[in-house]
Amino acid sequence: STAIVLFRRDLRLADNPALVAACAKHDRILPTYIHAPDEQAPWAPGAASRWWLHHGLEALHGQLAAQGGDLHLLAGDTLDHLRALIRATGATAIHWNRRYDPAGIARDAALKAALHEDGVAVHSHAGALWSEPWTLATDAGQPYRVFTPFWRKLRTGLPDAAPLPSAHARQWLRQPGSLPTAALGLLPTIRWDAGLASSWTPGEAGAHELLEIFADDAVADYAKGRDLPARHGTSRLSPHLHFGEITPRQIQRMLQDRAAATDARRHPDLEPYLRELGWREFAHHLLYHFPHTPDANFNPRFDGFRWAAADEVLLERWRRGRTGIPLVDAGMRELWHTGWMHNRVRMVVASFLTKNLRQHWQHGARWFWNTLVDADLANNTLGWQWVAGCGADAAPYFRVFNPYLQAAKFDPEAVYLKRWLPELAGLPAKVIHEAWRHPSVFAGKGYPAPMVDLGASRDAALAAWSALAD
Ligand code: FAD
Repeated sequence: STAIVLFRRDLRLADNPALVAACAKHDRILPTYIHAPDEQAPWAPGAASRWWLHHGLEALHGQLAAQGGDLHLLAGDTLDHLRALIRATGATAIHWNRRYDPAGIARDAALKAALHEDGVAVHSHAGALWSEPWTLATDAGQPYRVFTPFWRKLRTGLPDAAPLPSAHARQWLRQPGSLPTAALGLLPTIRWDAGLASSWTPGEAGAHELLEIFADDAVADYAKGRDLPARHGTSRLSPHLHFGEITPRQIQRMLQDRAAATDARRHPDLEPYLRELGWREFAHHLLYHFPHTPDANFNPRFDGFRWAAADEVLLERWRRGRTGIPLVDAGMRELWHTGWMHNRVRMVVASFLTKNLRQHWQHGARWFWNTLVDADLANNTLGWQWVAGCGADAAPYFRVFNPYLQAAKFDPEAVYLKRWLPELAGLPAKVIHEAWRHPSVFAGKGYPAPMVDLGASRDAALAAWSALAD
C-alpha cells in the first residue's frame, strides 16, 4: 500500500514519528512538502525564515535522493494537492507530525475532516516536543502559567526514550509534477542573504554538527557562558529546532550519553541547558492553550497601558542599529547580518524598545519575525511578552535593563560591541561602556548620539506603569 508523509516543520529523517509509522505500515512512501504560506496567515514565514526553508528543503531533498527518493514539492492549496496526489498514487493514508500554532492547528483539523470524508486515513504524530500540551496540567487541572512548577513537573516525568532511528522506506515513490525548490520563490530577489549563508548550514546534518560542537565545548560551562554574547557559549540550535531538523529528545540523549562517558569531575552544565529547552516547551504549551497571545497581551491588565504612538522614525533607528546605544545597536546589527541574536541581547533590545522608547511590543515582535532565522511564534511571543511585562510569568514591568551596565557586565572587553560596531573598534572598552561621557569622540567616528536619555525615558516608562497600576 501507499502512504503520503506530509513534511511541515519536521525537515528530518531521523527521530521522525510520522515517517517511521508510515514506513512500518506501508510499502511505498511519497515524501511531500506543500508550500502554502496563506494557510499560515497572519504569521506566514518572514524573509529570514523563508531563506532557511529554501535551504532546509534542499537538504531534505538531498537526503532522500541519496536513498533513491525525492521530496515531492508543491505550492498552493494543501487539500487540493493532497486530493490530486491520492487520486494519482492510490495512497490510502497520510501521516504528519502535529503543529501547535493556531493557524496550523485549524488547518490540520480542516484537512483531517475533509480527508476522512474522502475515506483516507489521516494519522497525526507527536514529533516536536517532549510532551503534548494537553498532557501537563496543574493540580487544579489548569494549564501552567508559571515556568518553575511547569518545569518541575515536566523534568520529573521526562521520558528517557531513545530517539527513533532514521527511517527507510521499502520503496520511495516518485511522482511527476514536483517543483524545483527555486520555484517556491523563497529566496530574496535583492541578495541580502550573504551573512546568513556564511553563518548557517540549514538541514539535519548541519543541526547535528552544531550539537557536536556544543557538546565538545560550550556545554561544559553553559550556565555562565550562555550570558556572554562575544562567545559561542550557546548551542545555536534554535533555527534547527524551529524547522524540526533536530528534536529535544535527540539533543537530550546525545548530551546525556556524552556526560556519562566523560570524567565525572568535569560535569557539563546539562541541567541548565535542558531547562532552556524547557522554556521552549513552556512557550509551545502556552501558545496551544492561549492561542490569541501572538496578537494580544497575555495579561489583559496591560490592555490599558499607555504605549507611545507608533513612531516610524524611532522604529527605523532601532531596526537598523542606529540608536546610539552600543549594545542595542550591536544586537540589531547582529540580527540583520546573521538572522540571529544572542538571548541576553534580545532581552536588552526588547527592553529598550518597549520601555525606553515605549513602543508596543508587537512592533518588535514583527521585526524579529521577519529577520530571525529562528522566528518561532511560540518562543517569540513568550520572549516579547516576558520582556514587556505583559506575559505569563513575565519579568515585572519595572525591571528596565540598563544597556550600559549589561554591556559592562557581560561584554567587559567590548569584544561583541566592536565586532558589530566596527566604527568603534579603535576605542578602549572603558570609553565605549561610558559612551554618554564622550559625545564628541563618538560623533567623530560617525556613530550617532544616544536617541533618548536612558534615565528620563526609564522614569517616563515607570510613570506609565504606575498609571496602569492605579
Ligand atoms: P540555547 O541557549 O542553546 O538554548 C537551546 C534551545 O532552548 C534554544 O535553541 C531554544 O529552542 C530554547 N530556548 C532557549 N532560551 C529560550 C527562551 N527564552 N524561550 C524559549 N525557548 C528558549 N527563540 C526562538 O527560538 N525563536 C524566537 O522567535 C525567539 N524570539 C525571542 C524574542 C525575545 C524578545 C527574546 C528575549 C527571546 C526570544 N527567543 C526566541 C528565545 C532565545 O533568545 C532563543 O531561543 C535563543 O537565543 C536561541 O539561541 P540558542 O539556540 O543558542 O539557545
